Amino acid sequence: MDLPVVNHEDYFAKIGDDHKFPINKFGELANYLIQNKIVKKFHKPYACSLETLSYAHSKNYISNVKNKTLSKEEVKKIGFPLVDSVVQRSLVATGGTVLASKLAINYGISCNTAGGSHHANYNGGAGYCVFNDVAVAAHYLLNRGLANKILIVDLDVHQGNGNSEIFKENRSVFTFSMHSKTNYPAKKSNSYIKTLKHYLNALNQENFDFVFYIAGVDIHFNDRLGKLKISDEGIKSRDELVIENFFSKRIPFCGVLGGGYNKDFNKLVELHSILHKSCAKCIGL
Ligand SMILES: [Zn+2]
Repeated sequence: MDLPVVNHEDYFAKIGDDHKFPINKFGELANYLIQNKIVKKFHKPYACSLETLSYAHSKNYISNVKNKTLSKEEVKKIGFPLVDSVVQRSLVATGGTVLASKLAINYGISCNTAGGSHHANYNGGAGYCVFNDVAVAAHYLLNRGLANKILIVDLDVHQGNGNSEIFKENRSVFTFSMHSKTNYPAKKSNSYIKTLKHYLNALNQENFDFVFYIAGVDIHFNDRLGKLKISDEGIKSRDELVIENFFSKRIPFCGVLGGGYNKDFNKLVELHSILHKSCAKCIGL
């Protein structure tokens, strides 16, 4: 079986070449995955429907994004200009995680080449996140009875505050976020992996029937925004550990990108591809 991977050319929104968010990474990651034969052909998503979006976001917020009528403050909080291609990107990337979650149900494992917009909340976006794709997809699975107890493993360097907020009253979705704090004990790869193993063992005691994995690579030592000091090898160990842990237990697994702002652009693309490589490797085992 080939790893099902979701991608759309609209993931690469036009926000201007001088923007500090490395938006080109989405196009380059897709090329990289094809060139390195990790993916033969992508699954193409549709823009997420209003109905599906409204599982996790207020109708008011959705229509203000779609009509580009958010206030200046709200746009500033997101960090992207509110232009057509950003609106389209947000809808298609969210549809992408919904599609990837359905592929995970059918094939056991899948990935998106975007997603992990974990700062977006019910009433607004933040930190380069417009719609919370994982929250939308989790609600989608619950509503259709495709999953009953969902785990979100969020290993982006930043806290998945949007997800914990959206699901704080929901006992069917549990968010596990291991992020960076100034006093965080796991600073180097070895202790990071050790800490992660400890938490995975605890999570394995619960009977989750679906896992979303937000594989942010802003934990890398050369990231512009992250404060952890994890090596390339550390990220590879992290992804393989998480993926194998759930895949071996036959729990449907859906990987999404999360953040990454490496100072070296080519390295950034390579680091994001570790998610897809590790999932493909797991299938081959
Ligand atoms: Zn992040």
